[in-house]
Amino acid sequence: MRIGIISDIHSNREALEAVLQDISLQKVEEVWCLGDIVGYGPDPNECINLVRSKIMICVAGNHDHAVAGIIEPFNFDPDAEKACLWTRAALTEESKEYIASMPLKLVIGDFTLVHGSPRESFEYITSSFEAKEALPYLKSFFCLIGHSHIPMILRPGEETKRRNSYPTNLRKVTLTEHATFINPGSVGQPRDGNPKSSYMIYDSNSNQVIHRRVVYDVNSTRQKMMSVGLPAWLGDRLLTGC
Ligand code: ZN
Repeated sequence: MRIGIISDIHSNREALEAVLQDISLQKVEEVWCLGDIVGYGPDPNECINLVRSKIMICVAGNHDHAVAGIIEPFNFDPDAEKACLWTRAALTEESKEYIASMPLKLVIGDFTLVHGSPRESFEYITSSFEAKEALPYLKSFFCLIGHSHIPMILRPGEETKRRNSYPTNLRKVTLTEHATFINPGSVGQPRDGNPKSSYMIYDSNSNQVIHRRVVYDVNSTRQKMMSVGLPAWLGDRLLTGC
C-alpha cells in the first residue's frame, strides 16, 4: 500500500492541486494530511473543499485552530496574524465547522499523525535531539509531523543535526526498527530554500519513504495574494521557498 503524506497547505490552491495531480500518478491509495490547511494564502475555502473531497484523514494545525477561533494568534508574527484575521473573515461557516472538527492527533497502525509533536501538538521538532525529548510521548513506532515546513527524517538520539543543515534532497529512505519522525515538508509554503511543493509517499511493501518535489504556478498564487491585500512578504517568500 502507498500512502501520500502531505502537510502545511496554507490556503495555496495552485500548490495543492499540483501535488494532488502528482499523487494521482503515483498509485497512492490514501492521503494523510498533517494540518495547517489554511493561513497565509488566498484560497482557504477552496483548499478545505479539496481536502474534504480528496483526503480522508487530516489532523489540525495551529493556523487551523487560530482561524477557527479555538486559539488566538497572539504569538504569531505580524504577517501571520494579519493573514489569520483575513482568513477568518473569508471562511464560510461550513469551512469553519470542518477545520474546528479536525482532531489534534491520530494513531493509525504504526503511525502517529500530529502537526507538531506528540508531546505538545504545536511544538516544533527540527532536530534528533528534540525528537528524543518527544519520544516518551509517542505511542506508536513512527511519528508523522509537519509545522516547520522543512522536509526531514529524524531518528531520536542519532547525532543532532544543526538547524541549518537540513536534508533537503532526501529522495528515498528505508525505515528500520528505529523510532522515526517524518516531516514531509510543506505543500503551500516550503521553507527549505526550494520553492517547489514538498510531500512524501510511504510504501508499505518496500518500507520506504519517498520524497517528492512538485512545480506549481507560484506567480499566480502570489498575484492573488497581492490582489486580496495579504501581506506582500507572504507572497514574496514563495518565490524562493524561504
Ligand atoms: Zn504551517
